[in-house]
Amino acid sequence: MIIRSINLETVCGITSVLPDNDKPEIAFAGKSNVGKSSLINALMNRKSYARISQTPGKTQTINFYNINEEMYLVDLPGYGYAKVSEKEKAQWGKLIERYLHGSSQLRAVFLLIDIRHEPSSNDKMMYRWIVEQGFAPVIIATKLDKLKRSQIQKHVKMVREGLDLVPGTKIIPFSSVTKQGRDEIWEFVETEYLD
Ligand code: GDP
Repeated sequence: MIIRSINLETVCGITSVLPDNDKPEIAFAGKSNVGKSSLINALMNRKSYARISQTPGKTQTINFYNINEEMYLVDLPGYGYAKVSEKEKAQWGKLIERYLHGSSQLRAVFLLIDIRHEPSSNDKMMYRWIVEQGFAPVIIATKLDKLKRSQIQKHVKMVREGLDLVPGTKIIPFSSVTKQGRDEIWEFVETEYLD
């Protein structure tokens, strides 16, 4: 994808009306600190347009980035931050559910998992949630540069088994440091989800 323009067009909090966009949306979910902002920045060829978490989990908004007036990258709020209250977690859930359930333009949800770690119970819940809403999630295994080459296959398998992925589910390893995986993600988005 050649990025000609980007615009953070809409920011939705828990009480916001979600936008009724007329272009395809691709959403990104993952626990806070997994590298979601870094991924979105890398996809947009920017260093710091999407927030890089200072206080992880604190910003409970859904951010819609308009790319080339052609599509949206949708940054879902991160989950699993220990210091968030039960009330905030419940609000988070409602917001995500409202979006996944209500968007008429959502084509795909990418779930980010840190390639170094076993998926958490929250990751598993998010995965099931995405599947239950009728999407075939694509997994992005982040922070690839933190592993030695020889460890990668083992960790991809760990993620696959930890999430109990439906056979055929795609896992794309990615590093925002080396940008490895970036072109593959765009290519996949363009061929699978854009007209
Ligand atoms: P978010 O909370 O999911 O949006 O995560 P961020 O993108 O803010 O990243 C959280 C932390 O992980 C930051 O310190 C990033 O610099 C770091 N990080 C993110 N992606 C990578 C990556 O691919 N490799 C490495 N080594 N660090 C990363």
